[in-house]
Amino acid sequence: MSQTLAEPIARLIEEFGKLPGVGPKTAQRLTFYLLRQPADEARALAEAIGDVKDKIIFCGNCFNLSADDPCPICADPSRNRTVICVVEEPLDILALDRTGHYRGLYHVLHGSFSPMEGVLEDDLKIRELVARVGNEPVEEVIIATNATVEGEATANLVKNRLRNSGARVTRLAQGLPIGSDLEYADDYTLSRALDGRREY
Ligand SMILES: [Zn+2]
Repeated sequence: MSQTLAEPIARLIEEFGKLPGVGPKTAQRLTFYLLRQPADEARALAEAIGDVKDKIIFCGNCFNLSADDPCPICADPSRNRTVICVVEEPLDILALDRTGHYRGLYHVLHGSFSPMEGVLEDDLKIRELVARVGNEPVEEVIIATNATVEGEATANLVKNRLRNSGARVTRLAQGLPIGSDLEYADDYTLSRALDGRREY
């Protein structure tokens, strides 16, 4: 970073540069954009960043990110409580719920089984899922992990752990592009994948 930049500017460019997908050029552009904005706007951004860390927690039931525990989905009495859809990340809930096609509950694993990258079974919320299925009137568990090698390995693991749970275990239909992340699938494809789910 150039020595001629005032320290606060250099520091903000450096912080922006740590964000995923933000290179040095974009970090500079964002910084100078903010410098041109009214102080209120910049402060609102800073506050929003602080709030996500201060006010967002995990739902103790499904491990979705939420301001409340239980989260609005778990607390919604109109939801079908006999079905749990298992996803890798909170963003996947957004994608599936957006379709309007699914009205059951969710369970977020927070990652996918990947020993090569140091993600082991205990790093995922699998034990918590098994406990839920044992304690709640769950009839079906839909495994909606990504259509990647890790997603498939995760689906297998979850299926094995639920083998004696008494719940039906299904998997989203193929048709999701192989190697793809659920959160990027369009509503139509996701709705079709839900409809076509099969015994797993
Ligand atoms: Zn929840």
